[in-house]
Amino acid sequence: PYDMLIVGGGPAGAAAAIYAARKGIRTGLVAERFGGQVMDTVGIENFISVPYTEGPKLSASLEQHVRQYGVDIITEQRVAKLTRADQVELDLVSGAKLKSRAVVLATGARWRELNVPGEAEYRTKGVAYCPHCDGPFFKGKKVAVIGGGNSGIEAAIDLAGIVEHVTVVEFADTLRADEVLQKKARSLPNVDIILNAQSTEVLGDGSKVVGLAYKDRSSGEVKQLDLAGIFVQIGLVPNTEWLKESDISLTRFGEIEIDAKGATSMPGVFAAGDATTVPFKQIIISMGSGATAALGAFDYLIRTSV
Ligand code: FAD
Repeated sequence: PYDMLIVGGGPAGAAAAIYAARKGIRTGLVAERFGGQVMDTVGIENFISVPYTEGPKLSASLEQHVRQYGVDIITEQRVAKLTRADQVELDLVSGAKLKSRAVVLATGARWRELNVPGEAEYRTKGVAYCPHCDGPFFKGKKVAVIGGGNSGIEAAIDLAGIVEHVTVVEFADTLRADEVLQKKARSLPNVDIILNAQSTEVLGDGSKVVGLAYKDRSSGEVKQLDLAGIFVQIGLVPNTEWLKESDISLTRFGEIEIDAKGATSMPGVFAAGDATTVPFKQIIISMGSGATAALGAFDYLIRTSV
């Protein structure tokens, strides 16, 4: 059995593993894919003290740093179930069982995709999901934001300060964002909002995005926008479906509820990063919350007997 077992090998899990191992306790890390979402990222310009890096390079450094410590790393394994008896028990899809006195959950999240032709092909070539990450790459260009909820309208307001023009494309006939955000977006001269519009295709020239096709749902007419970028803002889904049967409290969005020390509702189980209620989903924030959760879990361990 481990003293601390981390589930997830993204920035949050890697940080938690290093903080735990440095306490000299038996630490394990189980992950489906080391690096997590960072593996899907091309340019990263907001990882403080590193002006520019790329996802696969940062993932490799994360793994190398974790491997410098005596962490037992188990990859290409998916955890399916968490229960608690005298210790926390994890069941892997492979059938194996792991036990630990404390656990840090850092299973991250995934962006909800539009699932239209061209989206996958032009991902990182104009199709983006994170305005904080990729907004500056579209400086002076025309972009669309798909989705009129809070994240979509926040993205539109944010991007309007960087890019030439933003078109918000919303499927429904109203925006779901808070009134104050809608008011702000409508006041901006370079933001247009199109309602009742079903995005049907990401248009590209073979190497990059050139536009978006959408169906006007009231007239049935197919229309086109000329664009350099498309920000898809239709939801971030935490990878916590496997915890729904457990006793761990999740929000209605599926985020693991944590306190300021990363503790969940189950004793000995802590959580960090994009899978949790931690505000803002970023690499540097995930790493900080991974460190917090590991220290919180260590605090728990020294207060409980073996
Ligand atoms: P993740 O990175 O999602 O890692 C989750 C880990 O858990 C993975 O190892 C996964 O395999 C594992 N896992 C999940 N479920 C299970 C399970 N059941 N069993 C075992 N393992 C499991 N942020 C920035 O700060 N700057 C950027 O420029 C930037 N660009 C981005 C670009 C893209 C395309 C994307 C998708 C995200 C970007 N982000 C960026 C956001 C950033 O990548 C995330 O905030 C960060 O990776 C979250 O870290 P995490 O460790 O919480 O989760």
